[in-house]
Amino acid sequence: MDYKQVIGFFDSRKEQILQAISDLVEIESPSFDRLGSFAVVDFLAERAGKLSCVRKIEKIETEYGKHLIIRAFDAPKKVLLVGHTDTVHPRGSKLKNPTRIEGDRFYGCGIFDMKANCVLMIEVLKAFEELKISPKYGVTIFLSCDEEVGSKTGREVVEREAQGSAFCLVCEPSADGKAKTGRKGTAGYVVKAYGIPAHAGLEPQKGASAILELARQIEKIHLLNNGQTSAVVCQIKGGTAPNVVPAEAECTVDVRFTSLDEAIRVDQAIKSLKSFDERVRLEITGGINRPPLERNEKVLALYNHAKKLAEKLDYELGETQVGGASDGNFVASLGIPVLDGLGIRGGGAHTLEEYIFIEDIPKRASLLFALLQENFPDFETSESL
Ligand SMILES: [Zn+2]
Repeated sequence: MDYKQVIGFFDSRKEQILQAISDLVEIESPSFDRLGSFAVVDFLAERAGKLSCVRKIEKIETEYGKHLIIRAFDAPKKVLLVGHTDTVHPRGSKLKNPTRIEGDRFYGCGIFDMKANCVLMIEVLKAFEELKISPKYGVTIFLSCDEEVGSKTGREVVEREAQGSAFCLVCEPSADGKAKTGRKGTAGYVVKAYGIPAHAGLEPQKGASAILELARQIEKIHLLNNGQTSAVVCQIKGGTAPNVVPAEAECTVDVRFTSLDEAIRVDQAIKSLKSFDERVRLEITGGINRPPLERNEKVLALYNHAKKLAEKLDYELGETQVGGASDGNFVASLGIPVLDGLGIRGGGAHTLEEYIFIEDIPKRASLLFALLQENFPDFETSESL
Protein backbone atom coordinates (compact mmCIF):
# COMPACT_ATOMS: atom_id res chain seq x y z
CA MET A 1 0.00 0.00 0.00
CA ASP A 2 1.09 3.56 -0.70
CA TYR A 3 1.31 5.41 2.59
CA LYS A 4 1.35 8.92 1.15
CA GLN A 5 -2.31 9.39 1.89
CA VAL A 6 -1.81 8.16 5.44
CA ILE A 7 1.02 10.60 6.15
CA GLY A 8 -1.05 13.26 4.40
CA PHE A 9 -3.97 12.50 6.69
CA PHE A 10 -1.90 12.92 9.84
CA ASP A 11 -0.35 16.11 8.40
CA SER A 12 -3.81 17.49 7.76
CA ARG A 13 -4.81 16.87 11.39
CA LYS A 14 -1.72 18.45 12.86
CA GLU A 15 -3.55 21.29 14.62
CA GLN A 16 -6.17 19.01 16.18
CA ILE A 17 -3.52 16.53 17.30
CA LEU A 18 -1.38 19.24 18.89
CA GLN A 19 -4.42 20.62 20.66
CA ALA A 20 -5.39 17.21 22.02
CA ILE A 21 -1.84 16.58 23.25
CA SER A 22 -1.80 19.97 24.92
CA ASP A 23 -5.16 19.35 26.63
CA LEU A 24 -4.03 15.96 27.92
CA VAL A 25 -0.67 17.21 29.18
CA GLU A 26 -2.43 20.04 31.01
CA ILE A 27 -4.32 17.50 33.13
CA GLU A 28 -1.67 16.50 35.64
CA SER A 29 -1.68 12.80 36.50
CA PRO A 30 1.23 11.74 38.70
CA SER A 31 1.21 8.09 39.81
CA PHE A 32 -0.96 7.53 42.94
CA ASP A 33 -3.09 10.61 42.11
CA ARG A 34 -6.51 9.05 41.65
CA LEU A 35 -8.32 12.22 40.62
CA GLY A 36 -5.65 13.02 38.03
CA SER A 37 -5.89 9.50 36.70
CA PHE A 38 -9.69 9.65 36.47
CA ALA A 39 -9.49 12.92 34.57
CA VAL A 40 -7.00 11.74 31.92
CA VAL A 41 -8.87 8.48 31.46
CA ASP A 42 -12.16 10.34 30.99
CA PHE A 43 -10.50 12.62 28.44
CA LEU A 44 -9.11 9.75 26.37
CA ALA A 45 -12.22 7.60 26.72
CA GLU A 46 -14.38 10.45 25.46
CA ARG A 47 -12.21 10.91 22.36
CA ALA A 48 -12.16 7.18 21.65
CA GLY A 49 -15.90 6.92 22.29
CA LYS A 50 -16.61 9.20 19.32
CA LEU A 51 -15.15 6.68 16.88
CA SER A 52 -17.52 4.13 15.38
CA CYS A 53 -14.70 1.56 15.03
CA VAL A 54 -14.44 1.42 18.82
CA ARG A 55 -16.42 -1.57 20.09
CA LYS A 56 -15.90 -1.30 23.81
CA ILE A 57 -14.28 0.95 26.39
CA GLU A 58 -13.46 -0.38 29.86
CA LYS A 59 -12.24 1.52 32.88
CA ILE A 60 -10.77 -0.58 35.67
CA GLU A 61 -10.64 1.24 39.00
CA THR A 62 -7.74 0.52 41.36
CA GLU A 63 -6.18 2.13 44.42
CA TYR A 64 -3.86 4.06 42.05
CA GLY A 65 -6.45 5.32 39.58
CA LYS A 66 -8.03 3.79 36.49
CA HIS A 67 -6.65 1.56 33.78
CA LEU A 68 -8.21 2.17 30.38
CA ILE A 69 -8.91 -0.49 27.75
CA ILE A 70 -10.15 0.48 24.29
CA ARG A 71 -11.19 -2.27 21.88
CA ALA A 72 -11.58 -1.43 18.20
CA PHE A 73 -12.31 -3.18 14.90
CA ASP A 74 -13.30 -6.78 14.41
CA ALA A 75 -10.75 -9.19 12.97
CA PRO A 76 -9.78 -12.78 13.66
CA LYS A 77 -6.43 -11.71 15.09
CA LYS A 78 -5.72 -8.87 17.45
CA VAL A 79 -2.78 -6.66 18.30
CA LEU A 80 -2.18 -5.14 21.72
CA LEU A 81 -1.03 -1.53 21.98
CA VAL A 82 0.43 -0.65 25.37
CA GLY A 83 1.03 2.60 27.18
CA HIS A 84 0.41 4.43 30.44
CA THR A 85 -1.33 7.56 31.62
CA ASP A 86 0.60 8.19 34.83
CA THR A 87 3.65 10.47 34.93
CA VAL A 88 6.52 10.97 37.37
CA HIS A 89 5.72 14.68 37.73
CA PRO A 90 4.05 15.84 40.96
CA ARG A 91 1.16 18.27 40.71
CA GLY A 92 2.37 21.81 40.07
CA SER A 93 5.27 20.67 37.86
CA LYS A 94 3.60 22.19 34.83
CA LEU A 95 4.41 25.61 36.23
CA LYS A 96 8.10 24.68 35.90
CA ASN A 97 7.83 23.11 32.45
CA PRO A 98 4.80 24.88 30.95
CA THR A 99 2.97 23.17 28.11
CA ARG A 100 4.21 25.15 25.11
CA ILE A 101 5.64 25.03 21.60
CA GLU A 102 9.09 26.50 21.01
CA GLY A 103 10.33 26.15 17.44
CA ASP A 104 10.12 22.49 16.45
CA ARG A 105 9.71 21.29 20.03
CA PHE A 106 6.57 20.75 22.07
CA TYR A 107 7.36 20.92 25.80
CA GLY A 108 5.31 19.65 28.72
CA CYS A 109 5.34 17.36 31.75
CA GLY A 110 4.87 13.78 30.65
CA ILE A 111 4.50 14.75 26.98
CA PHE A 112 7.32 12.45 25.84
CA ASP A 113 6.73 9.74 28.47
CA MET A 114 4.09 9.31 27.20
CA LYS A 115 0.93 11.37 26.94
CA ALA A 116 1.48 12.45 23.34
CA ASN A 117 1.56 8.77 22.40
CA CYS A 118 -1.74 8.10 24.19
CA VAL A 119 -3.31 10.68 21.89
CA LEU A 120 -1.50 9.18 18.92
CA MET A 121 -2.91 5.68 19.41
CA ILE A 122 -6.45 7.01 19.25
CA GLU A 123 -5.56 9.15 16.23
CA VAL A 124 -4.41 6.01 14.43
CA LEU A 125 -7.84 4.44 14.98
CA LYS A 126 -9.41 7.61 13.65
CA ALA A 127 -7.19 7.48 10.54
CA PHE A 128 -8.44 3.99 9.66
CA GLU A 129 -11.99 5.16 10.11
CA GLU A 130 -11.66 8.38 8.11
CA LEU A 131 -9.69 6.74 5.30
CA LYS A 132 -12.24 3.91 5.22
CA ILE A 133 -9.57 1.25 5.53
CA SER A 134 -9.95 -1.79 7.75
CA PRO A 135 -6.78 -2.85 9.55
CA LYS A 136 -5.62 -6.45 9.25
CA TYR A 137 -5.95 -6.82 13.02
CA GLY A 138 -8.40 -6.04 15.74
CA VAL A 139 -6.88 -3.50 18.11
CA THR A 140 -6.79 -3.44 21.90
CA ILE A 141 -5.26 -0.37 23.53
CA PHE A 142 -4.25 -0.80 27.16
CA LEU A 143 -3.26 2.31 29.12
CA SER A 144 -2.02 1.62 32.63
CA CYS A 145 -2.30 4.01 35.57
CA ASP A 146 0.66 2.66 37.56
CA GLU A 147 3.42 1.86 35.06
CA GLU A 148 5.82 4.45 36.46
CA VAL A 149 5.67 2.86 39.90
CA GLY A 150 6.15 -0.78 38.94
CA SER A 151 2.71 -1.83 37.59
CA LYS A 152 1.46 -3.27 40.86
CA THR A 153 -2.10 -3.40 39.57
CA GLY A 154 -1.41 -3.01 35.84
CA ARG A 155 0.66 -6.16 35.48
CA GLU A 156 -2.24 -8.53 35.85
CA VAL A 157 -4.31 -6.59 33.31
CA VAL A 158 -1.61 -6.26 30.67
CA GLU A 159 -0.79 -9.96 30.98
CA ARG A 160 -4.44 -10.87 30.59
CA GLU A 161 -4.93 -8.58 27.59
CA ALA A 162 -1.77 -9.87 25.94
CA GLN A 163 -3.09 -13.42 25.87
CA GLY A 164 -4.03 -14.34 22.32
CA SER A 165 -2.43 -11.26 20.77
CA ALA A 166 -0.57 -11.76 17.51
CA PHE A 167 2.01 -9.25 18.72
CA CYS A 168 2.36 -6.24 20.98
CA LEU A 169 3.39 -2.65 20.20
CA VAL A 170 4.59 -0.62 23.17
CA CYS A 171 4.24 3.10 22.57
CA GLU A 172 6.73 4.17 25.23
CA PRO A 173 9.23 6.88 24.25
CA SER A 174 11.75 6.02 21.56
CA ALA A 175 15.47 6.36 22.29
CA ASP A 176 16.33 9.25 19.98
CA GLY A 177 13.96 7.75 17.44
CA LYS A 178 15.18 4.18 17.89
CA ALA A 179 12.86 1.33 18.82
CA LYS A 180 13.71 -0.66 21.92
CA THR A 181 14.44 -4.31 21.19
CA GLY A 182 15.71 -5.15 24.65
CA ARG A 183 15.01 -3.94 28.15
CA LYS A 184 16.62 -5.09 31.30
CA GLY A 185 14.46 -6.74 33.93
CA THR A 186 14.32 -5.27 37.42
CA ALA A 187 14.41 -6.46 40.98
CA GLY A 188 14.37 -4.46 44.20
CA TYR A 189 15.26 -5.32 47.79
CA VAL A 190 15.40 -3.83 51.26
CA VAL A 191 18.14 -5.25 53.47
CA LYS A 192 17.64 -4.50 57.19
CA ALA A 193 20.15 -5.22 59.92
CA TYR A 194 19.21 -5.48 63.62
CA GLY A 195 22.17 -5.28 66.03
CA ILE A 196 22.63 -4.44 69.73
CA PRO A 197 22.77 -0.84 70.99
CA ALA A 198 25.44 0.28 73.47
CA HIS A 199 27.15 3.45 74.67
CA ALA A 200 29.73 4.17 71.99
CA GLY A 201 32.16 5.64 74.56
CA LEU A 202 31.65 3.62 77.75
CA GLU A 203 31.18 0.06 76.55
CA PRO A 204 31.22 -0.21 72.75
CA GLN A 205 32.25 -3.88 73.00
CA LYS A 206 28.77 -4.72 74.33
CA GLY A 207 27.17 -3.40 71.14
CA ALA A 208 26.78 -5.05 67.75
CA SER A 209 26.77 -2.42 65.01
CA ALA A 210 24.02 -2.77 62.44
CA ILE A 211 25.81 -0.19 60.28
CA LEU A 212 29.09 -2.12 60.23
CA GLU A 213 27.18 -5.26 59.32
CA LEU A 214 25.36 -3.50 56.52
CA ALA A 215 28.58 -1.96 55.19
CA ARG A 216 30.06 -5.45 54.87
CA GLN A 217 26.90 -6.71 53.13
CA ILE A 218 27.01 -3.80 50.69
CA GLU A 219 30.49 -4.85 49.58
CA LYS A 220 29.13 -8.34 48.96
CA ILE A 221 26.12 -7.04 47.04
CA HIS A 222 28.33 -4.95 44.76
CA LEU A 223 30.38 -8.05 43.92
CA LEU A 224 27.25 -9.38 42.17
CA ASN A 225 27.79 -6.80 39.40
CA ASN A 226 29.07 -8.03 36.07
CA GLY A 227 28.97 -6.72 32.50
CA GLN A 228 25.29 -7.56 32.05
CA THR A 229 23.86 -7.34 35.54
CA SER A 230 23.93 -4.38 37.88
CA ALA A 231 23.26 -4.51 41.61
CA VAL A 232 23.44 -1.08 43.20
CA VAL A 233 22.74 0.01 46.75
CA CYS A 234 20.87 3.25 46.20
CA GLN A 235 19.73 4.34 49.68
CA ILE A 236 21.04 3.78 53.16
CA LYS A 237 19.99 4.85 56.62
CA GLY A 238 20.73 3.78 60.17
CA GLY A 239 21.66 4.68 63.72
CA THR A 240 19.87 6.72 66.36
CA ALA A 241 22.43 9.13 67.86
CA PRO A 242 26.06 10.22 67.36
CA ASN A 243 27.20 8.32 70.49
CA VAL A 244 25.25 5.05 70.29
CA VAL A 245 26.37 1.82 68.64
CA PRO A 246 23.64 1.53 65.99
CA ALA A 247 21.04 -1.14 66.58
CA GLU A 248 19.36 -0.71 63.23
CA ALA A 249 20.32 0.06 59.63
CA GLU A 250 18.82 -0.57 56.26
CA CYS A 251 19.55 -0.13 52.58
CA THR A 252 17.71 -0.52 49.29
CA VAL A 253 19.15 -2.45 46.35
CA ASP A 254 18.30 -1.87 42.68
CA VAL A 255 19.05 -4.83 40.40
CA ARG A 256 18.89 -4.94 36.57
CA PHE A 257 19.49 -7.98 34.37
CA THR A 258 19.22 -9.05 30.73
CA SER A 259 18.24 -12.68 31.27
CA LEU A 260 16.06 -14.58 33.69
CA ASP A 261 19.00 -16.83 34.61
CA GLU A 262 20.87 -13.80 35.87
CA ALA A 263 17.78 -12.63 37.75
CA ILE A 264 17.61 -15.92 39.59
CA ARG A 265 21.37 -15.92 40.34
CA VAL A 266 21.24 -12.48 41.94
CA ASP A 267 17.90 -13.05 43.65
CA GLN A 268 19.21 -16.19 45.35
CA ALA A 269 22.47 -14.50 46.33
CA ILE A 270 20.73 -11.54 47.97
CA LYS A 271 18.11 -13.63 49.74
CA SER A 272 20.76 -15.93 51.19
CA LEU A 273 23.02 -13.20 52.63
CA LYS A 274 24.26 -14.26 56.08
CA SER A 275 25.43 -11.87 58.76
CA PHE A 276 29.18 -11.55 59.42
CA ASP A 277 28.53 -10.78 63.08
CA GLU A 278 26.21 -13.48 64.37
CA ARG A 279 24.76 -11.10 66.95
CA VAL A 280 23.26 -9.09 64.10
CA ARG A 281 20.09 -10.33 62.46
CA LEU A 282 19.39 -9.64 58.78
CA GLU A 283 15.94 -9.23 57.32
CA ILE A 284 15.66 -9.20 53.51
CA THR A 285 12.49 -8.32 51.63
CA GLY A 286 11.73 -7.76 47.95
CA GLY A 287 12.34 -9.79 44.83
CA ILE A 288 12.12 -9.82 41.05
CA ASN A 289 9.71 -7.23 39.69
CA ARG A 290 9.82 -7.13 35.88
CA PRO A 291 11.34 -9.95 33.85
CA PRO A 292 13.72 -8.84 31.08
CA LEU A 293 12.52 -8.06 27.56
CA GLU A 294 15.03 -10.28 25.83
CA ARG A 295 16.18 -9.49 22.30
CA ASN A 296 15.05 -12.87 20.99
CA GLU A 297 14.10 -14.00 17.47
CA LYS A 298 10.45 -12.94 17.90
CA VAL A 299 11.41 -9.43 18.95
CA LEU A 300 13.92 -9.18 16.09
CA ALA A 301 11.41 -10.43 13.51
CA LEU A 302 8.90 -7.78 14.60
CA TYR A 303 11.60 -5.12 14.59
CA ASN A 304 12.71 -6.07 11.06
CA HIS A 305 9.09 -5.96 9.92
CA ALA A 306 8.70 -2.46 11.40
CA LYS A 307 11.99 -1.35 9.93
CA LYS A 308 10.87 -2.30 6.42
CA LEU A 309 7.60 -0.43 6.91
CA ALA A 310 9.48 2.63 8.16
CA GLU A 311 11.54 2.57 4.96
CA LYS A 312 8.31 2.79 2.99
CA LEU A 313 7.60 5.89 5.05
CA ASP A 314 11.03 7.26 4.16
CA TYR A 315 12.81 6.96 7.43
CA GLU A 316 15.20 4.63 9.11
CA LEU A 317 14.04 2.90 12.28
CA GLY A 318 17.05 2.08 14.43
CA GLU A 319 17.08 -0.22 17.44
CA THR A 320 18.69 -0.15 20.86
CA GLN A 321 18.60 -1.93 24.20
CA VAL A 322 18.08 -0.05 27.43
CA GLY A 323 18.25 -0.53 31.19
CA GLY A 324 14.79 0.80 32.04
CA ALA A 325 11.85 -1.62 32.09
CA SER A 326 8.28 -1.16 30.84
CA ASP A 327 5.07 -3.19 30.73
CA GLY A 328 6.47 -4.63 27.48
CA ASN A 329 8.71 -6.76 29.70
CA PHE A 330 5.70 -8.60 31.11
CA VAL A 331 4.26 -9.25 27.66
CA ALA A 332 7.56 -10.46 26.21
CA SER A 333 7.96 -12.97 29.00
CA LEU A 334 4.70 -14.62 27.85
CA GLY A 335 6.41 -15.45 24.54
CA ILE A 336 4.57 -12.81 22.52
CA PRO A 337 6.53 -10.74 19.97
CA VAL A 338 6.99 -7.24 21.40
CA LEU A 339 8.35 -4.06 19.88
CA ASP A 340 8.91 -1.26 22.37
CA GLY A 341 9.86 2.40 22.14
CA LEU A 342 7.54 3.25 19.24
CA GLY A 343 6.70 6.68 20.62
CA ILE A 344 7.35 10.11 19.15
CA ARG A 345 10.97 11.29 19.14
CA GLY A 346 11.85 13.72 21.90
CA GLY A 347 13.83 13.92 25.10
CA GLY A 348 14.04 14.86 28.75
CA ALA A 349 12.00 11.93 30.08
CA HIS A 350 11.35 12.27 33.82
CA THR A 351 12.82 15.80 33.89
CA LEU A 352 11.44 19.33 33.68
CA GLU A 353 12.85 19.61 30.15
CA GLU A 354 10.51 17.03 28.63
CA TYR A 355 9.58 17.62 24.97
CA ILE A 356 8.70 15.94 21.68
CA PHE A 357 9.61 16.89 18.10
CA ILE A 358 6.46 18.03 16.31
CA GLU A 359 7.65 16.97 12.86
CA ASP A 360 7.96 13.36 14.08
CA ILE A 361 4.24 12.99 14.86
CA PRO A 362 3.00 11.98 11.36
CA LYS A 363 5.88 9.51 10.91
CA ARG A 364 5.24 7.67 14.16
CA ALA A 365 1.50 7.65 13.67
CA SER A 366 1.97 6.30 10.13
CA LEU A 367 4.27 3.55 11.34
CA LEU A 368 1.69 2.40 13.90
CA PHE A 369 -0.92 2.53 11.15
CA ALA A 370 1.28 0.42 8.85
CA LEU A 371 2.00 -2.15 11.56
CA LEU A 372 -1.74 -2.69 11.99
CA GLN A 373 -2.37 -2.65 8.26
CA GLU A 374 0.29 -5.11 7.05
CA ASN A 375 0.47 -8.80 7.85
CA PHE A 376 3.17 -9.99 10.22
CA PRO A 377 3.00 -13.76 9.89
CA ASP A 378 6.55 -14.63 11.04
CA PHE A 379 6.05 -15.28 14.73
CA GLU A 380 2.41 -14.58 15.39
CA THR A 381 1.31 -16.37 18.47
CA SER A 382 -2.45 -16.83 18.18
CA GLU A 383 -5.45 -17.11 15.93
CA SER A 384 -7.97 -16.08 18.53
CA LEU A 385 -9.46 -12.65 19.10
ZN1 LIG B 1 6.82 5.50 30.23
